Amino acid sequence: MKRRIALVTGGVGGIGTGISRRLAKENVFVIANYVIPGSEGPFVEAMRAAGFSDAQFAVMAGDVSDFKVAEEMVAQLIAQYGPVDILINCAGITRDASFRKMSLEQWRSVMSTNLDSVFNVTKQVIEGMVAQEWGRIISISSVNGVKGAFGQTNYAAAKAGILGFTKSLALEVAKKGVTVNAISPGFIDTPMTQAMPDAARSAVIAAIPIERMGVPADIANAVAYLASNEASYVTGTNLAVNGGVHLYQ
Ligand code: NAD
Repeated sequence: MKRRIALVTGGVGGIGTGISRRLAKENVFVIANYVIPGSEGPFVEAMRAAGFSDAQFAVMAGDVSDFKVAEEMVAQLIAQYGPVDILINCAGITRDASFRKMSLEQWRSVMSTNLDSVFNVTKQVIEGMVAQEWGRIISISSVNGVKGAFGQTNYAAAKAGILGFTKSLALEVAKKGVTVNAISPGFIDTPMTQAMPDAARSAVIAAIPIERMGVPADIANAVAYLASNEASYVTGTNLAVNGGVHLYQ
C-alpha cells in the first residue's frame, strides 16, 4: 500500500506534536505546519530524539488563517511530497475575554485562526482526496464549542463552527471515500492550558470525572483511529475525548 501523507496544521504545538508523532509511528509521512519562526526547532529535535528521520516527517511554515498563504503552502507541499491523504486541522489560539470586554481584534483573530483556517486548508486538499477516492479530514474542535465557556464567545463560536462544517462536508463527500470528522478535546496539558492561572487549572481538574488533564497522546490516539482504514464507516462525527467532562454531574 502507498505510504500516506498527512498535513497537520499547528503541527508543532502541544497536541499537534502528539498527533505528528503518532501518525509517523503509523508509517504516515507527516508534514507539521507552523507559523511562529523558530517554533519548529524543538519539534524537529523532539522527533529526531524519538527516532524519526527526515524520511518520516517534515515541517512547513505558513499562516493558515490566510487563504493565499495556505494555498501557496499546500501547492508547494504537493509539488514536493505528493497529494495530501490526511488533513488534521489543529492550528488554534485563544484570546479570552468576557463578551462585554472583547475587542473586534480578539474576535477576528480567533475566528480566522480557528475557523477560517479550516476552510483555507481543506479547500486545498479536498479535490485531490475526491479524485483518489480516499481521504481523511479531521478537525480539532473543543468541548467548549459544544457546551460554551465563560470568556470564550469567540473560541466557542469558532469551535462550534467546525462541527457544522464537519457534518456538512461529510455529507457532501460521503460517496467519494472521504471521511470528515471532528475531535473535541477537553482539557489537555499543553502550552495552551499551561498558560492558565494555577487556581483555574486546579478548578478545571476538579471538574474532570477521570481526575486528570488529558495528554496529547489521548487526542493522537483518536486521530490515529479516525485516520485509519478501520474508520472508513465513521463520518460526520464529533469524538469527545475529555475524561468525561462533558457529562452532567
Ligand atoms: P498549542 O498552542 O500548543 O498549539 C497550537 C499551535 O497552533 C501552535 O503551534 C501555534 O503556533 C499554531 N498556530 C496558531 N496560529 C496559527 C496559524 N495562523 N497558522 C499556523 N499555525 C498556527 O495548543 P494545543 O493545546 O496543542 O492546541 C491544539 C488545538 O487543540 C487547537 O485548535 C486548540 O484550540 C485545540 N484544543 C486544545 C485544548 C487543550 O486543552 N489544550 C482543548 C480543546 C481543544
